[in-house]
Amino acid sequence: MKVSSSINKKSFIELSEKDQIDILSNLNEKKFRLSQINNWVFKNHVSNWKEMKNFPLSLIEKLEKTNSLYPLKIIANSKADDNMTQKFIMQTMKGNKIESVLMPTKKRNTVCISSQSGCVLDCKFCATASLGFLQNLNEAEIISQIIYLQKISNKRISNVVFMGMGEPFLNYKNVIEAACRIKDIFNIGSRKITISTAGIASKIRQIADDNHKFKLAISMNASTNEIRKKIMPITEKYPIQDLISSAHYYYKKIKRFITFEYVLLKDINDSVDDAIRLASHLRFLPCKLNIIPYNEIDGAYKRPSNQVINDFVNALDGYPFNVTVRWSKGISIEAGCGQLALKA
Ligand code: SF4
Repeated sequence: MKVSSSINKKSFIELSEKDQIDILSNLNEKKFRLSQINNWVFKNHVSNWKEMKNFPLSLIEKLEKTNSLYPLKIIANSKADDNMTQKFIMQTMKGNKIESVLMPTKKRNTVCISSQSGCVLDCKFCATASLGFLQNLNEAEIISQIIYLQKISNKRISNVVFMGMGEPFLNYKNVIEAACRIKDIFNIGSRKITISTAGIASKIRQIADDNHKFKLAISMNASTNEIRKKIMPITEKYPIQDLISSAHYYYKKIKRFITFEYVLLKDINDSVDDAIRLASHLRFLPCKLNIIPYNEIDGAYKRPSNQVINDFVNALDGYPFNVTVRWSKGISIEAGCGQLALKA
């Protein structure tokens, strides 16, 4: 897909409405043009100015000179062996790269989007962490990922997960504003928009206080602070007890089940004792648990054997929460959980 070539200028969709109107009036255009542009962008998901078919060519040329339409451009994409999952690398106007993944299934059409380029949290099993922190994405950069993916997909996007690059709660304001607009623009309910955090307990309390009803997912990944600190340094600031107490706080206010994610790492967090300790943390919380066998990248961690995975899952039998094993999609193109690190 081609995107506007004048990507070095500030993009039109990230401007305030007032600035957009000013640009149009400088071009001697009336205000109704703005609703036409919004219609082309948010309803028809055009890729560039030229696709606005009811605009005179002279206006398109002026707009192209003034602003790019979107703040991102797609620079690479790849398809997984299943021929369904697709990963896209996009570039921001600051020149940083992010990744977004399209994951269609029979029932759903889910997109996994980034909230930051790189990430500061340095989770040891995560490919993104190796990039360090590069930038927060603004609202337009977050939404543009979905516009692009909707344009490419022949099926309506039904679910959005903030599980791409970055820690969404370290870019709280932009992520929440974008999620609210995603609800309106794409007609996707709050229950179908998942925000996944590595465990910023203060922001879990804040999203509850702010009464946002998006789905919350927490990356748990260990049953003791000692192990969790080794693989997720954020545990120094927010230990497991604080995280679980913030999850109770969230449930009391929002009344929505929380999803806990647990990446299983061979000989690190995969024992039956780990499973039992994990259950003791979650047993009084209305939640579900996703077990994710680790997708091996070039680092030190390995995926446990299927026998170990089964033993771990069996040890959780009988506890009052649902457990599912999530075999990540898109592993062949490094688009599985924890694998996003800009390899085309
Ligand atoms: S797992 Fe998420 S929070 Fe942790 S370093 Fe990777 S992108 Fe950041």
